Amino acid sequence: MTVTPGGCRDLRPYMNDPKVMEAFGKLISGKSGYKPVIERRVEPVICPNCKLNLTGDEKFCPECGTKIEKKQEENPC
Ligand SMILES: [Zn+2]
Repeated sequence: MTVTPGGCRDLRPYMNDPKVMEAFGKLISGKSGYKPVIERRVEPVICPNCKLNLTGDEKFCPECGTKIEKKQEENPC
C-alpha cells in the first residue's frame, strides 16, 4: 500500500478488507479498534421525485424524467 502525503489515496480496493481497515483506523486515529468511516463512492442513487432506485449512471430518471443530480465529486487525480 503506497501512501503519499497530501496525495490522493484511493482506498476503494481496500475497503472490503477488514484487516486493512483496522490498520487504517489505527493509522488515522492512533487507536486500535477504531473504525474509520470512509465515504463510499458508490452510493445508492434514488430519484428525488419517485424514489426509484437508480444505478447512478442515469442523467434522468427513466420512470418520471426527473433530472438526477450527482453529488459524487470527480477524482481530480
Ligand atoms: Zn423518478
